[in-house]
Amino acid sequence: MASSKKPQAIGIDLGTTYSCVGAWHQGRVEIIANDQGNRTTPSCVAFTPDKRLIGEAAKNQVDSNPINTIFDVKRLIGRRFSDPTVQSDRMLWPFNVIKGVSDKPKIIVQYKGEEKQFLPEQLSAMILENMKKTAENFLECSVQNAVVTVPAYFNDSQRRATMAAGEIVGLKVLRIMDEPTAAAVAYGFEKLTYVLEEKYVLVFDLGGGTFDVSVLNIKQGVFKVKATAGDTHLGGEDFDNRLLTHFIQEIKRKNKKDISDNPRSIRRLRSACERAKRTLSFAASTTVEVAGLYEGIDFSSHITQARFEELNMDLFNRCMGLVTKCLEDAHMDKTAIDIVVLVGGSTRIPTVQQMLKELFDGKELCKSINPDEAVAYGATVQAAKLSGLGNREVEELVLLDVTPLSLGIEIVGGIMSVVVPRNTTIPTKKEKEFTTAADNQTTVNCVVFEGERAQTKDNYLLGKFTLTGITPAPRGEATLDVCFEIDANGILTVSEQDRSSGHKQKMTVTNEEARLSEEEIEKIIQDAERYRAHDEECRRKYEAKNSLERYAYRMNNVMKNISITDTLPLATKMVIKDVIQEMLSWVEDNPFPDVAESESRMEELKTICAPIDHM
Ligand code: AMP
Repeated sequence: MASSKKPQAIGIDLGTTYSCVGAWHQGRVEIIANDQGNRTTPSCVAFTPDKRLIGEAAKNQVDSNPINTIFDVKRLIGRRFSDPTVQSDRMLWPFNVIKGVSDKPKIIVQYKGEEKQFLPEQLSAMILENMKKTAENFLECSVQNAVVTVPAYFNDSQRRATMAAGEIVGLKVLRIMDEPTAAAVAYGFEKLTYVLEEKYVLVFDLGGGTFDVSVLNIKQGVFKVKATAGDTHLGGEDFDNRLLTHFIQEIKRKNKKDISDNPRSIRRLRSACERAKRTLSFAASTTVEVAGLYEGIDFSSHITQARFEELNMDLFNRCMGLVTKCLEDAHMDKTAIDIVVLVGGSTRIPTVQQMLKELFDGKELCKSINPDEAVAYGATVQAAKLSGLGNREVEELVLLDVTPLSLGIEIVGGIMSVVVPRNTTIPTKKEKEFTTAADNQTTVNCVVFEGERAQTKDNYLLGKFTLTGITPAPRGEATLDVCFEIDANGILTVSEQDRSSGHKQKMTVTNEEARLSEEEIEKIIQDAERYRAHDEECRRKYEAKNSLERYAYRMNNVMKNISITDTLPLATKMVIKDVIQEMLSWVEDNPFPDVAESESRMEELKTICAPIDHM
């Protein structure tokens, strides 16, 4: 039962490979297990000829259905199809990604005998819906509100797309929270509640698809992010890919065969690589085996921890480089860090731990919080705070995040003029004066970018608008006030005003190209409802068929009992046996029969079996 009359709000860590959900329950954070009893659920969606599967069920059938089993959606969300990372990932994904309208990526699957196309938001929405259901089953009430985490280094477009995913399944995203901040809250909550003095914490968050590092200052419930750095395309999946590429080449060399165009073989080898990687966190070497991998090859190979390290060393070095960058941005020496907290499944890799420890001159790393659950834990605390459900410590919690990337506008010569420097505490409002570049200019384009490069062509375009009605004046005389406002979700609003005429233009929705339009969202919501209805229909069909099957088997067993069958007339016995067999064959030949048909067959069977039903 829910512990309060106030509407429940949950915390969701929507991860690249796994997702995790928590709720405030009976005065504390409860990380909720799914129907299989696992506290993290694969971020995986699959489509079969007759149904849609999400989570564990989707992952379990991946080997037999690789091209319709979608994972890694977080690597696509809010990105353009032409993004180089999307292009390189596509090469190793068994499913098909194509270019949609406005360069948006679309995932193609076969579902119910037809080709279907999905936007990443739609697939993320399905994962969110599954997590929501897990929470609802546990809380025994419906849940409408959530805090969803994203990598601190997600840009505006990726944040908006994640919010849209929530919207699609009717989940109000109360706050988009940065993953390392959530992890720090989990740490602070569990370990620092009664510590009064100020502590500097570095959160090293290396997950399945993304890497984030943040430096925070924690003092009596106030969590202030000092700086954040990261890479939204660096994580465990990259380590798996390195192993995968290594073995593909080995097969080319040894067997003179190229398996890379066979999605099933790639998928099976990738799963074996991920398992090997996990083993190498505890053992010096392991064997990778995949029977019948490709054209009669029973693949078997050996890999050592040292070779795995060598294959990934540049990626591990990149992580360490970003830690240094984050410390520089925070204007802190590494000796000033009190605690280094490890979060994310990939921090179990011993070399990563060792390199980080060395970077901090041998300092012990904090491994005492659960790396798979810390982010969801922090999100749940934030959700409890925003919905007024938590205890006194939750109420007193103050979170001060920062903006991960600099934001600014383009000025003459394609130069980026920064208005909000990166690592500015949010929410924030910053103003800057600009002017006209030509005599009597009455309109000006305000083009907004995000990024650290001096020239806008190297940064990420967020959107543009035109300010009209500027009072004509010699060039350089008009004063144009540009204002950037970032809300607590890290989402931006830009406005520009001509001081003389008072004309003002505002852009509340940035990044038009990559963002979904209202109509698109509306259409997707309708689609999501259709899919939900179809899932429900499948479930009812399955249950009706299942009860028929169970009943038929029960009667079949009764018929095996000679003391019962001997009491029946021979003709009745024959009829009962025939009908049971007929029903069992029908069930086998019809995996998804109509509910009405199953029910009418059940009635028929029950009538015929009436003489033995009570036995
Ligand atoms: P997360 O996104 O935090 O759930 O992390 C998932 C990633 O952690 C996946 O890429 C996993 O393969 C990886 N992972 C989990 N356990 C281990 C382990 N023991 N050694 C190496 N990587 C692991």
